[in-house]
Amino acid sequence: MLVATTQIYESFDYFHVDQFLSKKQRELRLRVREYVEQVVKPNINPYWDRAEFPFEIAMGLRDLGIVGGIIRGHGSAGLDALEAGLVMYELARGDGSIATFFGVQSGLAMTSIGLLGNDDQRARWLPGLARLEKIGAFGLTEPLVGSNASAITTTATRDGNGYRLHGAKRWIGNASLSDVLIIWARDEDGKLGGFVVEGAKDGVEGLSITDLQGKMGKRALLNADVVLDGVYVPAENRLAKVSSVKDTYKVLMFGRNGIGWECAGTAVGAFEVALKYAKERQQFGKPIASFQLVQQKLVEMATEITTMQLMCFQATSLMATNQLDEGRVSMLKYHNAKKARYVTQLAREVLGGNGILIENQIARLMTDAEISYIYEGTNEINLLLIGRDLTGINAIQ
Ligand SMILES: Cc1cc2nc3c(=O)[nH]c(=O)nc-3n(C[C@H](O)[C@H](O)[C@H](O)COP(=O)(O)OP(=O)(O)OC[C@H]3O[C@@H](n4cnc5c(N)ncnc54)[C@H](O)[C@@H]3O)c2cc1C
Repeated sequence: MLVATTQIYESFDYFHVDQFLSKKQRELRLRVREYVEQVVKPNINPYWDRAEFPFEIAMGLRDLGIVGGIIRGHGSAGLDALEAGLVMYELARGDGSIATFFGVQSGLAMTSIGLLGNDDQRARWLPGLARLEKIGAFGLTEPLVGSNASAITTTATRDGNGYRLHGAKRWIGNASLSDVLIIWARDEDGKLGGFVVEGAKDGVEGLSITDLQGKMGKRALLNADVVLDGVYVPAENRLAKVSSVKDTYKVLMFGRNGIGWECAGTAVGAFEVALKYAKERQQFGKPIASFQLVQQKLVEMATEITTMQLMCFQATSLMATNQLDEGRVSMLKYHNAKKARYVTQLAREVLGGNGILIENQIARLMTDAEISYIYEGTNEINLLLIGRDLTGINAIQ
C-alpha cells in the first residue's frame, strides 16, 4: 500500500463543473481520486493482464466512505446522488474493473437490498456488505435471456418454508466471490422475486459458479456462469418489496445513471493520458501536439468529454428532484457510452503503437468503454427506450 501524499491531482474540467460541488463533495472526490492515483493506477495492470481479481486494491475501497452509495443506514455510505456519480467517475478514470466491482457491490447488490428489502433484510446484509466483509452480486441475465430481461426463465418453486431455485445465469459480476448473491427468478404464480443465496463463494448445494475466461475488457473483474439446480433459499431471503419487474428497473435506473458517470470517467482518463503524451512525444522534430490533425483529435475528445460531464451533472440534479425518468437516464447512458468509445479510440490514435500497450493505460480504458456500451441495457436498447419515450411507440419488440 502506498503512503498518502498531499499532492492535489488535477483533472480535466474545461467548463468548470467543479463550481457545482460543495466542500464535502470535493473532499470525497479528492479521497477517491488520491486512492485511484496512488493505489489503483500503479497496480492494476498485472491483474488485468492475468485476468485476476485485485483483492487488495478492491478492499481498500472500504476506507473511502463510499460503499453502499446512496443507501442510508446500516453502515452504508449514504451519499447524495452527485457524490455517488463522482465516485463512479473517479474510479472509472483509473480503471473499469475496479469501478464495476464497486458498481456491482454498491449499485446493484446493496441498492437492491436497500430499496427492495425490508428492515430485517437490510439489517442482516447491509452492514457486512458496507464493510466489504461480504461481497454482493446481482444475477439477472441468463444464457438465453439478455436484453429481454422480463423473459427470464429461472424459477423459484415452494419447498416447505422456502424456495428451490432452478435455472442458469450468465455474466454475473462478483458471483464467485460472493456471500450475498441475489438471484432474480419467477415463482409458481409467475411473480418476479429477488432471492438471496447466502455463502455462494463457500459452496452451496446445487449451486455451481464458473468464472468466464478470455474476456477482452474489464479483465480484472470476475464474471461468472451460475447454474442453480434446486438451490434452497429460506422464505425470509426473498426481497420483501419486489412485486414486478418494474422494481428491478428502480435499481437499474440508479445503475444506468452510474454508468453515465463511469463512461465520462473512462473518457477523461484516456484523454488526460493522450494530452500529456501529445505534448511530450516528438516526431518530425516537434511535439506531435503541434500537428493540426493531432490537435483536432484532442479538441474532439475535450469537447465530447465536456458534453458528457454536463449531461452527468444535469441528469443527477434531475435525479435529486425525482425528474430523472427512463427516457432521460437512457439518454445519459446512450450518449456517454457512445462517446466513451469514440474518445478512447481517439486517445489510442494519439499514442500510435504505444496506445495498444496496457502500460500506457489507454488500451485498458478503451476496452472498459466497450463493456459500458453493453451492460445496464445495450446502447441499442437504451436508444429504443429513448425512442419510446419520445414517440410513445414501443419499437423494442
Ligand atoms: C462485463 C459484463 C458484466 C455484466 N455484469 C452483469 C451482472 O453483474 N449481472 C447481470 O445480471 N448481468 C450482467 N451483464 C449482462 C448484461 O446486462 C447483458 O450482456 C446485456 O443486457 C445484453 O444482453 P446479451 O449480452 O445477452 O445480448 P443480447 O440481448 O443477446 O443482444 C445481442 C445484440 O442484439 C441487440 N438487440 C437485442 N434485442 C434488440 C432489440 N429489441 N432491438 C434491437 N437490438 C436488439 C443488442 O443490442 C445486442 O447488440 C454483464 C455483461 C457484461 C458484458
